[in-house]
Amino acid sequence: MDIVPRGGYRWITSRNKKDMETNSPVRRLALKAKQRYTWSTMERYDLIVIGGGIAGLGVAAEASRRSIKTLVLEARQCGAATSNNTLRIIHGGFRYLQHLQLSRLIRSLNDQSAVLRDFAQAVQPLPCLMPLARYGLKSKIPVRAASLLYGLAMKACRSPLPPPTVYSPQDMTTLAPLVSELSPHGALCWHDVLMTHPEIIALALKDHITQNGGVIQENCPVAEIKRKSGGFHVVTSTGAHLTGTQVINALGPWLDSIAVPDALRGNRPEWCKGFNLIVKRQIHPTHAIGIQSKDGRLFFCVPRGSHTAIGTWYTPARSIPDHHTEATPSHDEIAAFIHSFNAAYPIMAISVADIEGIDCGFLPMKKLSPQGPVLYGSEILYAAHGYGEIMSTKYTTFRSQAQRSLEKVTASL
Ligand SMILES: Cc1cc2nc3c(=O)[nH]c(=O)nc-3n(C[C@H](O)[C@H](O)[C@H](O)COP(=O)(O)OP(=O)(O)OC[C@H]3O[C@@H](n4cnc5c(N)ncnc54)[C@H](O)[C@@H]3O)c2cc1C
Repeated sequence: MDIVPRGGYRWITSRNKKDMETNSPVRRLALKAKQRYTWSTMERYDLIVIGGGIAGLGVAAEASRRSIKTLVLEARQCGAATSNNTLRIIHGGFRYLQHLQLSRLIRSLNDQSAVLRDFAQAVQPLPCLMPLARYGLKSKIPVRAASLLYGLAMKACRSPLPPPTVYSPQDMTTLAPLVSELSPHGALCWHDVLMTHPEIIALALKDHITQNGGVIQENCPVAEIKRKSGGFHVVTSTGAHLTGTQVINALGPWLDSIAVPDALRGNRPEWCKGFNLIVKRQIHPTHAIGIQSKDGRLFFCVPRGSHTAIGTWYTPARSIPDHHTEATPSHDEIAAFIHSFNAAYPIMAISVADIEGIDCGFLPMKKLSPQGPVLYGSEILYAAHGYGEIMSTKYTTFRSQAQRSLEKVTASL
């Protein structure tokens, strides 16, 4: 059994928030570290990670912490694709209590606490409000019971965040006047974590990898993986051959864009497109608000400066574009999003003119229900003969996902 060293990516935590600004010392250091990256076709790496999204960076950070000689190959820039297009929430997993998924809850809380501790200057606590229903699981009594359980789980995971609380309709008129009309039975308030600077998390992970002897090569698309005796050759689009004992394919939606021997490939899920609209409106300056649509979708309205990010709308993906920059919803998909949101929250009456930006990416889809795509609860992992594939469904759990991936790939040797 592998001994997993504990501890975090501490390098960035003791610094001041202004270090995060453009041209700050932290940024300059990270860029300097980037210039130090040197890769070599003569070297044999213990592990080659393909794809530098949060899944690939997480695995490489964990591997280099275990002193595994690691090379990361990223087609463009690390952390700039799906991982930079999220709603930016590191979930504690309150909603897992709905189906009493306690192990998922504990995993999420532990990962959330680790992000708070290790990337303190790139994240902040995010109070979240969810209007209560009159009857059923989302009404006052079950929600109070779930809050007690969640509070106990938070203590067990040493979460520094405040425990959940239930607000009365009167509390809501002062706390969130724009939402009080939706809260005739009061609202639940719990705390998640908001990534204010997701790019800093990617930079800190890159720095951690290189500080621990790992190598990162950006602007280096991979074209093929070949099985060789005792390991693999990873062939780049320029024809360079890199040798590794183990390989982890963390290409997310681009998993199939490189050639992989059939004997190694896992089953493939369908993919769906997910997108958030960034609107020039402020629904609440500090709190995220959950709004249930009439057709069973949940819209989360998250403050982003003076704007609000609303998401996430999922729709089956007809195809995956070659480049992330081409990931975009159609006019019809945007119109359906706006229609459903306005029906759930008419007072906002958002229109296309309110849209300031769109975050868009792709996620594996378990099935298609009448309410839209149903996502996988946690990542999909395959491993055979020292080769592994990760299909991530959550940014939140990148750290424990990395540990599970490494263990699975090592066990497959
Ligand atoms: C709209 C949306 C909102 C979301 N919101 C949240 C949220 O609030 N909280 C949460 O926990 N999760 C959220 N998620 C889920 C989360 O974003 C994903 O699970 C996670 O970012 C996936 O990371 P990844 O590393 O697998 O993929 P990616 O970030 O896409 O990384 C894949 C990398 O592979 C690289 N690549 C592609 N082809 C090649 C090649 N040939 N060679 C080398 N490299 C290549 C790409 O450039 C890219 O950098 C959201 C997802 C979406 C779509």
